[in-house]
Amino acid sequence: MSQPKFLSGDKAGIDEFLDRFDVFLFDCDGVLWSGDHMFDKVPETLEMLRSKGKRLVFVTNNSTKSRADYKKKFDKLGIPAEVDEVFGSSYSAAVYIARILKLPAPKNKVFVMGESGIEQELEAEGVPYIGGTDPALRRDIEPEDFTNIANGSLLDPDVAIVLSGLDFHMNYLKTAIGFQYLQRGAKYLATNIDSTLPMAHSFFPGAGASGAGLEKAAGQTPVSFGKPSQAMMDAIEGKFKLNRSRTCMIGDRLNTDIQFGIDGKLGGTLAVLTGVSKKEEFLAEGAKTVPSAYVNAIGDLLG
Ligand code: PLP
Ligand code: CA
Repeated sequence: MSQPKFLSGDKAGIDEFLDRFDVFLFDCDGVLWSGDHMFDKVPETLEMLRSKGKRLVFVTNNSTKSRADYKKKFDKLGIPAEVDEVFGSSYSAAVYIARILKLPAPKNKVFVMGESGIEQELEAEGVPYIGGTDPALRRDIEPEDFTNIANGSLLDPDVAIVLSGLDFHMNYLKTAIGFQYLQRGAKYLATNIDSTLPMAHSFFPGAGASGAGLEKAAGQTPVSFGKPSQAMMDAIEGKFKLNRSRTCMIGDRLNTDIQFGIDGKLGGTLAVLTGVSKKEEFLAEGAKTVPSAYVNAIGDLLG
């Protein structure tokens, strides 16, 4: 595998790289910002790309926020972006359920194991759901719950899908209910299955960890709609009609972002070193996931 090209400070190399693409898929956290801290020259870099006629799509695995929530975050940080340019894992799952699965009513409800970002996107796509942020499920399991879950009296007979994402209120009760729906034949989907969540300069359990209790009980892996799953790439391609060979994925994480671009057979991938992955990981002999190029920070693309 050829070595990735280091572009920081290489004006000619940057120009040549940018010319290869019409569309840039941007990961958000770790590339544009870290938490509430925006990296240097982000608005200027996006403006430069737009002025060259490049199409930008912001692709995030964060299922806790909807596209509308992300638009607010972009606005707050002063980064110009449109709601329609944001493609999150909750949106990706909701679009699949509403437009591809198209389950006929009444047995078309989703049991949500996650936060309001998932609920908002399902609502926007007209998909009925239960669970999610419902306070009734944020409690300990009681002895009688076992019987009521098993006999179905605590269940909704119209649930056909269990959709799991990062749930800050995950508990045994929700896991038991989700597992019961799966045993009754519900489809098992996940917004994303990230093992970890980078926060406050450390790592916390990610969506995959939050849903791991259900996954273990079910003995099956959910179909994921977040990076690196190609279900998400197919959805992005369908929506933006992109030409994969003229598209570049930019991200900070090798096993989600860069793998997403490689598996999707995009024209190129660009690793940014302001987030999770370190250059030693992809420069090492025999590295599995190697980007086409890398920069120290996204603002370096300004040259
Ligand atoms: N999931 C959650 C809940 C997050 O908060 C984040 C980052 O903020 C992510 C996933 C990763 O997001 P991204 O794909 O933008 O790096
Ligand atoms: Ca990231």
